Amino acid sequence: MTNVVHREFTERKPLPAPNSDFYEVYETLSAEELAVVKRVRAFMEAKVAPVITKYWVDDAFPFELLPAAKELGIGGLGMEGYGCAGGSLALLGFVQMEMARVDPSFSTFMGVHNGLAMGSIYIDGSEDQKQKWLPPMARLDKIGCFGLTEPLVGSGASGGLTTTAERKGDAWILNGEKRWIGNAPWCDVSIIWARDLADNQVKGFIVENKTTPGFSVEKIENKIALKVVQNGHITLRDVRVPEANRLQSGNSFRDTAKVLKMTRYAVAWMATGCAMGAYEAAVKYSQERLQFGKPIGSFQLVQDLLAKMIANITASQCLITRQAQLHAEGKLTDAHAALAKAFCTAKCRETVAWARELLGGNGIVADYKVARFFTDAEALYSYEGTFQMQNLIVGKAVTGLSAFI
Ligand SMILES: Cc1cc2nc3c(=O)[nH]c(=O)nc-3n(C[C@H](O)[C@H](O)[C@H](O)COP(=O)(O)OP(=O)(O)OC[C@H]3O[C@@H](n4cnc5c(N)ncnc54)[C@H](O)[C@@H]3O)c2cc1C
Repeated sequence: MTNVVHREFTERKPLPAPNSDFYEVYETLSAEELAVVKRVRAFMEAKVAPVITKYWVDDAFPFELLPAAKELGIGGLGMEGYGCAGGSLALLGFVQMEMARVDPSFSTFMGVHNGLAMGSIYIDGSEDQKQKWLPPMARLDKIGCFGLTEPLVGSGASGGLTTTAERKGDAWILNGEKRWIGNAPWCDVSIIWARDLADNQVKGFIVENKTTPGFSVEKIENKIALKVVQNGHITLRDVRVPEANRLQSGNSFRDTAKVLKMTRYAVAWMATGCAMGAYEAAVKYSQERLQFGKPIGSFQLVQDLLAKMIANITASQCLITRQAQLHAEGKLTDAHAALAKAFCTAKCRETVAWARELLGGNGIVADYKVARFFTDAEALYSYEGTFQMQNLIVGKAVTGLSAFI
């Protein structure tokens, strides 16, 4: 009997390579866009994949990868002019998903720089500010971060920022603290959101990290997720920012929310990429790992796990591809982006947990990749607005009633 089983599994045709594009959503891209995505996939697989687990374990950022990342020419993807890469929001989404498929931290690093920091200047900055800041950021010569969350104010940022801005002549004085700020410990430019003491409205400021007196950053240690991303606790003590560095079209939290809509859009893609990476690793493992003399992928209950995973991924991919179409048609609302972020991060969390389960004990060892996706999913689920906050945005849209106040 054992010999029969053994022959059955050694003499058959080669097994299919793991593939997380079950409904062929990549075929919705143009040939030109697909070429960009393939370039990113080659970079992620050839350069990032071989080194990233070590950086993740060490809580360190892979600065050695930045020169090759610059050559990808994707800085400012989704933004037109000012040296930006341009392209559709669909392309931006696929690139973020592709990065997260290998490493959600690298995808987050780009999401913070591109979407949050550059996006704030692109959406809320004046023409002069765009001309000055966007070209070096698009080249990745200057890297940015986005400081909204505070130690005591997370979900309630829209109404309760404690960091203050006070106008003094042709400058502003900023005081307060920001927490969780991705890239902050080493980047060049921070977008700091603060409450104007005169009118109580939230305003955005461009602060140069390395040369501004009163601005200091401490790295947040001992994270269990997105360990490659360096998150900072920023302290602002009488930080003087010229009026020329106040985002000229950022006059209230509504203008901050315009940026958040676009980055929530992108996090839905990242979460889907994270699930894809875990799923592909799980399929490969199921084909190679033998128990009872057979690959575990031949067991019905293991196939059930894999089928549920690819169903989650496929549902997420279809949803975000439609999300991109809505944006292209000028119809993407805050609620659309919130629903996509909530749904895709929740499905990601479920999928990576099944992948971890499928790997048995090896599922909790970083070297087998799935553990990294498993923990990183926790951060994707909570940052950029938690699952509950996204659902409150959707709930308000469908009922017409706000649960926030
Ligand atoms: C890895 C990582 C990277 C991040 N990067 C950045 C960054 O670059 N820039 C930045 O500004 N911020 C960043 N953040 C902060 C992130 O956006 C916040 O963590 C998030 O908004 C949640 O805030 P909080 O952690 O303070 O949780 P809290 O707001 O304290 O929430 C705690 C819990 O209470 C729930 N809750 C709160 N209010 C309600 C309510 N009204 N109804 C129901 N439930 C509610 C929440 O859903 C959550 O489950 C990052 C966070 C992480 C973990």
